[in-house]
Amino acid sequence: MRYFDLHCDTLTEAYQKHEHLVRNHLQVSFDRANAFEDYCQLFAVFIPDELRDQQALDYFLSCASYFDEEIRLSGGDPATGKINPHCRAMLSVEGGSACGGTLEGLQTLFDCGVRVMTLTWNGDNEIASGCFSPSDHGLTDFGKEVISQMMRLGMIPDVSHLGKKSFAQLAQFYDGVFIASHSNYDLTANPYGRARNLSDWQVREIVSRGGLIGINFCPDFLSDPPGVGYDHIMKQIESFLALDAEKCLAIGSDFDGCTPIPDVNSISRIPFLYQALLDRGLPGDVADRLFWQNAFSFFQAHFPDK
Ligand SMILES: [Zn+2]
Repeated sequence: MRYFDLHCDTLTEAYQKHEHLVRNHLQVSFDRANAFEDYCQLFAVFIPDELRDQQALDYFLSCASYFDEEIRLSGGDPATGKINPHCRAMLSVEGGSACGGTLEGLQTLFDCGVRVMTLTWNGDNEIASGCFSPSDHGLTDFGKEVISQMMRLGMIPDVSHLGKKSFAQLAQFYDGVFIASHSNYDLTANPYGRARNLSDWQVREIVSRGGLIGINFCPDFLSDPPGVGYDHIMKQIESFLALDAEKCLAIGSDFDGCTPIPDVNSISRIPFLYQALLDRGLPGDVADRLFWQNAFSFFQAHFPDK
């Protein structure tokens, strides 16, 4: 099978724990990805809400150079992210504070190869308010400048972690495509799921623009515990399909960013998930779209040079 994952935090974990990307004790590594016919992984640089301004940009730059070095150590080419003809790694950003609060910082991210960036993490930043922001003030003027500049550069906003008000303002202000790299459908009553998951109107907005939605394996976002497993992932997929999201569905595992459900607790479990979904009646062509084709076609269409 082929596997395209829109979001993991493995790079940031590896950077902090001095682990390698090719082989490690984490949930994702290139050696385990050799089991796939084709594999593409977005590695997010996660910016904690404690880091702002130049500190946030400096942290991004340290992680980005660690990423390049790890690609090199894995036998790949940092210019293309290709480890081998069947394995590809791309850099992304989780938390728009990585720009350091300036458009020059955004350009730096772009020059480092970033093409997808979540505007926020959970809190407020210079761009917008995140999903756990007490103020929930929405997009800032600087945020609007960032989004316009992203559009000019050809970067895609990622709305995972974005507050509902910021999302609504983004949809009004910006007529381009955006993705939710690791967000589930609003099936849970717990406060984390309520804040992080997508409501119907948000799903419709992403679908109508031809974006992507990556299914997240974090238990709080899948269903209310206990007993989460394959069935709950299937339920998420069915909910999105009922909203005509067949051409937008993808995987955004959140590996190394959360404690995923035991059924899918590392990249080695992905083929088992694939089979479990087929066993539960997911048509093969829809499974292929979910695990590979939708995300692959999206990146080919939007970043033909990458
Ligand atoms: Zn996240």
